[in-house]
Amino acid sequence: MSPEAARIPTIEWQVAGACNYDCSYCIQSARYRKGRPKRDQLAQAIRAFASLPGTWELKCSGGEAFAHPLFLELIVPELVMRTRHTLSVLTNFSASRAELMRFAHMTRGRLAVFSASLHLEFADIDEFAAKAEWFALQLEPATRFVVNQVVIPDRLPEVARGKAAIEARGLRWFPQLYKVDGGVHDYAEPEALIPLTGRRPGPRQANLAPSYRGRTCWAGVDYAVVDKDGDAWSCRTAKRHGAGFLGNVFTGELTRATAPQACAWDICPCTVPANRGMIEGVTPDGPMESEAE
Ligand code: SF4
Ligand code: SF4
Repeated sequence: MSPEAARIPTIEWQVAGACNYDCSYCIQSARYRKGRPKRDQLAQAIRAFASLPGTWELKCSGGEAFAHPLFLELIVPELVMRTRHTLSVLTNFSASRAELMRFAHMTRGRLAVFSASLHLEFADIDEFAAKAEWFALQLEPATRFVVNQVVIPDRLPEVARGKAAIEARGLRWFPQLYKVDGGVHDYAEPEALIPLTGRRPGPRQANLAPSYRGRTCWAGVDYAVVDKDGDAWSCRTAKRHGAGFLGNVFTGELTRATAPQACAWDICPCTVPANRGMIEGVTPDGPMESEAE
């Protein structure tokens, strides 16, 4: 299958800046981790997404999506009703079982990926794993359920325990290397990571935040990130450098680039573009998960 045939147009939408957790390793500073778009802004954003041609995957993230009081009241039902797109979500999985059930019902037939992040500073491994096992059974077979976990450098044994608890329940576990200052943490003993990430993991097995500099990338054309203020960017690294601005969806504006470009950056911090077929020579088997927190 050619990379073009495999491309899944995708928008990652930060539906809330605010989060109900405060993880010490969060790549979003506490100062930035604030704010929740208002009703009229959400409606404008949904209108902008509805006008996209074809079928896209809209991946809702935060902050914490479920901690936006309008997530289940407005965002999810309106996305389902007013667009033809599939939905995915990235969450810290702190929502109640009742809220999760509501979400599963609302998105029936439309949910592509449910990514639950296990944050050791706020969640108990065994409780999280039991809830994950229960919730995965509520989802339709076509929905992919995956548990993400940050590989915290000084807590590798606990990270391994999280992996074991999730995998023992037959669920998928996805490691995220710890990111610092736009790069990846320099682990003192890289060999200790092998049992967690594998020896040469691809983008479906782990997020190692590689460099794809020079490769043709469709970010900006068929992929965009939309932040909590409604600003749309071609990808996270471009945004970090103040490049790739695509307009603001709160004003109804989302201007996609007309052609792919050679990647100009030294790090691709999130596996979504790689796993949705955006990057030349990185051929996905299908959409898998990534965390972008
Ligand atoms: S890592 Fe995720 S759950 Fe933790 S504070 Fe940041 S956004 Fe919230
Ligand atoms: S950083 Fe990744 S998503 Fe952004 S242009 Fe480069 S390859 Fe594409």
